[in-house]
Amino acid sequence: MLIERPQDLPEALEGIGGSPHAVLLAGGTDLMVEVNLAHRRPEAVIALRRVDDLQTWEDGFIGAGVTYARMETGPLPALAELARTVGSPQIRAVGTIGGNLGTASPAGDTLPFLAAIDAEVVLGSRDGQRRLPWHEFLVGPKQTALTPGEVILGVQLPDHIPARQAFAKIGTRQAMVIATVNCCVLRDDDGTTRVAMGAVAPTVMRPREAERLASSEPRPSQAALDEFQRLVSAEVAPISDHRATEQYRRHAAGVLARRTLERCLTP
Ligand SMILES: Cc1cc2nc3c(=O)[nH]c(=O)nc-3n(C[C@H](O)[C@H](O)[C@H](O)COP(=O)(O)OP(=O)(O)OC[C@H]3O[C@@H](n4cnc5c(N)ncnc54)[C@H](O)[C@@H]3O)c2cc1C
Repeated sequence: MLIERPQDLPEALEGIGGSPHAVLLAGGTDLMVEVNLAHRRPEAVIALRRVDDLQTWEDGFIGAGVTYARMETGPLPALAELARTVGSPQIRAVGTIGGNLGTASPAGDTLPFLAAIDAEVVLGSRDGQRRLPWHEFLVGPKQTALTPGEVILGVQLPDHIPARQAFAKIGTRQAMVIATVNCCVLRDDDGTTRVAMGAVAPTVMRPREAERLASSEPRPSQAALDEFQRLVSAEVAPISDHRATEQYRRHAAGVLARRTLERCLTP
């Protein structure tokens, strides 16, 4: 296996452009599982760990190489909260936001935050850069709009970020678990509410009717919260798999979204 270890971004982009089918390696917490299970046998690997430009986190831009360990202590409450739920300290020390996007699992834990905040995914190649809204980048289960020769540079967050933020996740146990359902809620002081749900559709999704209802209520009553929960359950499109049935996920999505919203309502 050929392994390249570029030392900076220009070298990385040149390497990726020169071998567009090489597999990119960040923390390896998804990729090496696939290699160890013999699901993937890459002939060429480009390791991104030494590329400092991918570790940048400033002005609303989070580099692809930012690890969960850094997100845990970062300034964004929901991102910190979700990072604390990922894997173990060893996974959080090396697993990255770029790798979570690259894998594009419907259950990826950074994805509800990125969808709720309307992040753009910034892609680079030796020909330049392009930005895609999250929903144009995540095109299906484990499918992205990344083309050969491109790398995820990071995510650009909008200027305005609601102060009230919460993330929650349901799994078969408290730790080291892939989400059965995960959820991020952001709420502005004027009541505008964004909700994103993971593991309940082919990719992370926003239940727009439920968002509209929650946004129209400055102080949602119990009846409004009941209706919000019902709308979330109605809008998600889960499947049954080894982790949960479609019916369980549909029910759990409504309950989880309601509880996460309630946390954003408490003063
Ligand atoms: C024990 C364990 C527990 C886990 N728990 C969780 C969890 O709770 N929640 C969760 O969401 N995930 C979890 N995961 C999955 C994994 O840790 C995350 O998806 C992590 O974010 C992957 O990041 P990485 O840097 O390790 O990616 P890698 O494994 O290095 O790469 C993953 C994929 O992304 C591609 N890639 C990486 N960086 C880039 C880039 N800059 N540009 C383009 N493509 C890129 C790679 O080619 C590969 O296809 C767990 C994994 C393990 C092994």
